[in-house]
Amino acid sequence: MGTKWMIRNGKFAVPGADKPVLEGYMVIDNDLITYIGEEPPVLEEDVPVIEGNRLLFLPGLVNTHGHAAMSLLRGYGDDLALQVWLQEKMWPMEGKFTGDDVYWGTALSVLEMLKGGTTTFLDMYDHMDRVAEVAEASGIRAVLMRGVIGLCPAEVQNQKLAEAVAFAKKWHNAANGRITAMISPHSPYTCPPDYIEKFVQAAHDLDLPMHTHMSETRREVEQNITDYGLRPVAHLEKLGMFTRPSLVAHAVHLNDEEIEILARNQVGVAHNPGSNLKLASGVARVPELLKAGVTVSLGTDGAASNNNLDMFEEMRLAALIHKGVSGDPTAVPAGEALRIATEYGAKSVFLNQVGRLAPGMKADFIAIDIDQPHLLPHTDLISHSVYSASAKDVEHVWVDGKQIIKHGECLTLDEEAIRRKAQEAFEGLLNR
Ligand SMILES: [Zn+2]
Repeated sequence: MGTKWMIRNGKFAVPGADKPVLEGYMVIDNDLITYIGEEPPVLEEDVPVIEGNRLLFLPGLVNTHGHAAMSLLRGYGDDLALQVWLQEKMWPMEGKFTGDDVYWGTALSVLEMLKGGTTTFLDMYDHMDRVAEVAEASGIRAVLMRGVIGLCPAEVQNQKLAEAVAFAKKWHNAANGRITAMISPHSPYTCPPDYIEKFVQAAHDLDLPMHTHMSETRREVEQNITDYGLRPVAHLEKLGMFTRPSLVAHAVHLNDEEIEILARNQVGVAHNPGSNLKLASGVARVPELLKAGVTVSLGTDGAASNNNLDMFEEMRLAALIHKGVSGDPTAVPAGEALRIATEYGAKSVFLNQVGRLAPGMKADFIAIDIDQPHLLPHTDLISHSVYSASAKDVEHVWVDGKQIIKHGECLTLDEEAIRRKAQEAFEGLLNR
């Protein structure tokens, strides 16, 4: 049996192109898209065909910041300030997480993400081998890293760094390249400067990019100035982080000079509008970042601060809040929001074959059912996918050329077991 198949009579989202919705054909061979166009492809043999009527095909959504296992704490401690939420609610419970808790929490999140059209996710957490196991088995694409908090004795610090390095060595480029690794100190406020420098050195040694939380709250920026005499961007630049390809999460509180430093060093920003709104951290200066040439992508952050992993909602928020805050209805238009969630997302996690529907790209794409009341009439399908659609509209999902979600059902994971085990894991945490 051949490895090629084709979609015909489909509508394909190619935001950024002159004609952002292409009607016609797409050919997939193994893990790659080999053809997309209005004309029928020239093929030597007959290939299996999927009818694309009533479907809009989009590049898979790329979630560039999160902590999947935190789905176990969804709804556990809402409507609190970030530091209170972290110190009184999240960290005490997370301190009790076992490898199995991380496994089932991650499985719950991966199931939610896949069913909602996310084909790549970044994850920064602990017990990362268990996260990688879920990624491998589920078929999703994953960018994984041990996120290290360095507020501990030197011995423990060294052990955590060694774990982060061992994880990256073991899993980078695993699962046919579906899993890649990054190096990740948790944040400048949880890692002392000399410790961050060790991560920079490790990233150089392994030739891997870096990721961290940065400037999420105003208080954290002020504390950085008090402790180190610098705002976080200059602080991280001084520690050498931006000598590596880097992605920072949040970057809510930036001045003009910091935007300039990020742009000059080609540092990407994972924008987390839902989480930033919920924790009242503020609104990132996304229009200014985009204007300066910074690659902006979208993250949900953990489900405990969102409280779902619906990247359609995140796109819609990104397209709406910057209009509201700037008073400019042309800020972050729909096509740009879609590119932020797909093409720029892939770029910001250093995956150059992901994020667009084009020949030579990985076959990571989704199909939404556009024959529904809230998606009719078919005036502008790019607009519909940002302003009108949600995760619930996702009908099919393919990653690396393999179908993972078919008519809304996951083909790779045991949904029933995940639902039950996740509930049991939460109850176990409460009672330990
Ligand atoms: Zn985070």
